[in-house]
Amino acid sequence: MSPTTQFQPTCHVCGRGVLDRVKVYRLSGCAVVVGYVILIPTVIGMAAGGFVFIGSFLPVEPAVAGSEGLPQEVALAAGGAGLMLFFASLVGGLLGWLLVMKKWVLRCTSCRATIAAN
Ligand SMILES: [Zn+2]
Repeated sequence: MSPTTQFQPTCHVCGRGVLDRVKVYRLSGCAVVVGYVILIPTVIGMAAGGFVFIGSFLPVEPAVAGSEGLPQEVALAAGGAGLMLFFASLVGGLLGWLLVMKKWVLRCTSCRATIAAN
């Protein structure tokens, strides 16, 4: 008996290997690639949208002394656009995240047979 504390059942397919707990992608490689393609711009979109939204609340210094700052309507519109970009990116990001989600499986070290694990 090995003094390991990890539970490693023997493979029932080949009877030789042991089942290792590994994390694999839930979907096929193609869907995972699509997921990352969606995920990368949405992360940037969320950051940009949040930045514009927060920035619209900050007082804008007049570029030229004596001139007016950013009109309130423009700041409000920019804030709204920023918020919309943020939420659109959030929804897209969730979709991308669903595609790249991983799951735990038990995989045989000998024959590579996989069994679903919780
Ligand atoms: Zn096996």
